[in-house]
Amino acid sequence: MKLVSFDDFQIGVLRDDGIVNVTSVLPDVPGPLQCYRMNLFIEEWDTLKPKVEKLAKEGSTVPLDSVKLLAPVPAPRKVYAAPANYHAHRAEMEAGAGGTEAAAGQHHSGEFGMFLKSPSSVVGPQDTILRPYEDRLIHHESELVLVMGKHGSAIPLADSLSYVFGYTCGLDITVRGPEDRSKRKSFDTFSPTGPYIVTADEIADPGDLEISLWVNEDLKQHAFTKDLITDCPNLIANMSWVAATEPGDLLFTGTPDGVGEIKPGDLVTIKISDVGEMSVPVKARTGPNPERD
Ligand code: MN
Repeated sequence: MKLVSFDDFQIGVLRDDGIVNVTSVLPDVPGPLQCYRMNLFIEEWDTLKPKVEKLAKEGSTVPLDSVKLLAPVPAPRKVYAAPANYHAHRAEMEAGAGGTEAAAGQHHSGEFGMFLKSPSSVVGPQDTILRPYEDRLIHHESELVLVMGKHGSAIPLADSLSYVFGYTCGLDITVRGPEDRSKRKSFDTFSPTGPYIVTADEIADPGDLEISLWVNEDLKQHAFTKDLITDCPNLIANMSWVAATEPGDLLFTGTPDGVGEIKPGDLVTIKISDVGEMSVPVKARTGPNPERD
């Protein structure tokens, strides 16, 4: 099943002929909490699933182009991410692709590395990446993103994929430089995700997917998740030992080689086999910059 968030945090099932609104399976939520609907939906999935399946089959659709798609989980409580998790990407960073970044002693995933991106950096497939600097290196990173389904602390390795609710595409937009990753990767709009969640039952093996990324018409990244240094089950086990998973948490699994600059006017397209495809434009961010002004 493909699940979307749209308009004012409605939840829908995406079918070939449009979107079936299934928000009614949830209790009413006061306005300020509506951004958390998908988290609640995921938490209650085992109970809701039969009702959602029935609605998805029998309900009427609205056309996809009549709604605004949001990030499928618009307000995750946490966004975990894996640093340098493909050998070829690690090698390109050590060879200087990230400017001074590698020299600053940044860790890679094989050292049980992880970092957190601000949940407020998450935007959707119809939003825009805003570049905060004119004169610094800002890169695209294409990544498979896990959408966590359940509470879990120190999740056992053998069990860990059962904690995944589904999968989506993610861009881990990154300012290169010596500062902490949590700053360089947390600017508003730096975590586009979408266009929908594919539920885990449709992905036989997250270690057998193909990832591609284009900037405009140029293919920049192309890799297979079988080449992850730390695979999905180990990422979940490692990260949930540090910080317990909550329904709707996102886990960015790391980018392959081929990272490169994005500039205002570019269109960044990510495609992951069986998971989805989205294209997100890039613009310059305007307004104050306290580092300079
Ligand atoms: Mn990344």
